[in-house]
Amino acid sequence: PPAFSPEVARRDFPILHRTVNGKPLVWLDNGATTQKPRQVIEAVAGFYGAGNSNIHRGAHTMAREATEAYEAGRAAVARFLGAASPDEIVFVRGTTEAINLVAQSWGRSHLGPGDDILVPVLEHHSNIVPWQLVAKETRARVVPVPLRPDGQIDFGAYADLLSMRTRLVVISQASNVLGSVPPVKEMTALAHRYGAKVLVDGAQAVAHFPVDVQDLDADFYAFSGHKLFAPTGIGALYAKPEVLEGMAPWQGGGNMIESVGFDRTTYAPVPHRLEAGTGHIAGVVGLLAALNWLTSFDRGAIAAYENGLLAYARQALATVPGLELLGSAPDRIAVLTFTLAGHDPAGIADWLDRDGIAIRAGHHCAQPALAHYGLDSAARASLALYNTSEEVDQLTASLGQLVQTA
Ligand code: PMP
Repeated sequence: PPAFSPEVARRDFPILHRTVNGKPLVWLDNGATTQKPRQVIEAVAGFYGAGNSNIHRGAHTMAREATEAYEAGRAAVARFLGAASPDEIVFVRGTTEAINLVAQSWGRSHLGPGDDILVPVLEHHSNIVPWQLVAKETRARVVPVPLRPDGQIDFGAYADLLSMRTRLVVISQASNVLGSVPPVKEMTALAHRYGAKVLVDGAQAVAHFPVDVQDLDADFYAFSGHKLFAPTGIGALYAKPEVLEGMAPWQGGGNMIESVGFDRTTYAPVPHRLEAGTGHIAGVVGLLAALNWLTSFDRGAIAAYENGLLAYARQALATVPGLELLGSAPDRIAVLTFTLAGHDPAGIADWLDRDGIAIRAGHHCAQPALAHYGLDSAARASLALYNTSEEVDQLTASLGQLVQTA
C-alpha cells in the first residue's frame, strides 16, 4: 500500500502553521475536535459567498443547487459508512443529538418496564445520560457492563448480562478516554441473538479507520463531523431501513411533514421525518468536503501510520518519570490518557500550553471510566493523521522538563 505522509496532509491545515504563546502550535487535542483542511474552509466560505439558500426543492435555481449539495452530502455519508442507501442517513448536530434522537424516538416506543439497556462503563456521558433519561420515562433499566482491569469491556460479564429482557446494547467503537477499540462486531452478533438492537457510537472511530455499518451489522451508528475534519454542528445518524421506517417524529416543524391540518397531520417519509426545521446546510457542504478530502488518501495507510505513531508515543511517554498511561487494550486508536505523579492534570495542561502544546485535562465526559481507575481527572493527548513523531518528541520533552522543574 502507498505510504501516508503527514507532512503532505499538514499543508492543507492553515491553523497548524500558527503559533501559541510564541511556539509553533502542537495540536494534540484531536479527541475533542480535529482541525479543518482548507478544502473544508473554502467549501463553507464558498457556500455562503456564492451558494447560500434554504433547501426548497424546485423553488428557484439556488434552492435547487443547495438541495443538491445537501443530498450529495447525504449520499457521501452513506458511502463513507458503507450504508446501502442515502435514505438510511439522518443529519443531526452531532453524536450527542443522534443518540438523543434514538433515545427519544425509538426508545420511547420500544422500551418498557423491566427492559434492559446495556451500557459499558467506558461510555461517553452522551451515551449514558440519554439512556438514563428515557429509562426514567419508560421504567426501563440502564445496566452498566463492567470493565476488566486493563480497561477492556469484560466480554464474559457482557454475555452474562444479555437476556431476553435486553432491548438495546450501546457501544463506542473507540473510547475517547482509553482509546480502546472493543470487538463491536462480535458484541453486536451476540446481542442480536437475544433480539436486542445495537447502537454504535462512532465519534472517536471515524477519523481513524474505515467503517462499514453493514459489516458490523449495527442497527444504529452515530458520528460527529467536527471530529472528522468537518465543521461543528453537523453529524449523522445511520439506522437500518427497517428500524428507521418505524421511527416516530421526535421534533415537529417544517421539512418533516407531508400535510398539516388541525384535524390531522401526516409526516414525511424517513429520513426527512426526523429532520425538523432548517438543517445545517453549510455544515453538510463542509462535511462533504471533509469526506472527499479524507477519502482522497489511502485509509489503510493512514491507520498504519497512526498505529506506528501511537507505538512511538507510548514508548516515548514511558520514559517520563512518574507517568502512567491508562488502559492497555491491544486494539486501540491513538489516544494517550495519563497521570503524572505529583502533578494534577490541569497543571500539566497549563505547563504544556506554555510550550504551544494543546492537550485536554479533566474527566473527558467519561466519569465512570475514570472512576474505574480511582480517578476523577486525567491528562489526554489525542493524535490525528497530521501529527508527527517530532510533535510527540516535543510533548515528551516538555513533560520531562515539568518533572525536573518540580
Ligand atoms: N461519544 C464519544 C466517544 C465522544 O468522544 C464524544 C465527543 N467527545 C461524543 C460521543 C459526543 O460528541 P459531540 O459532543 O460531538 O456530540
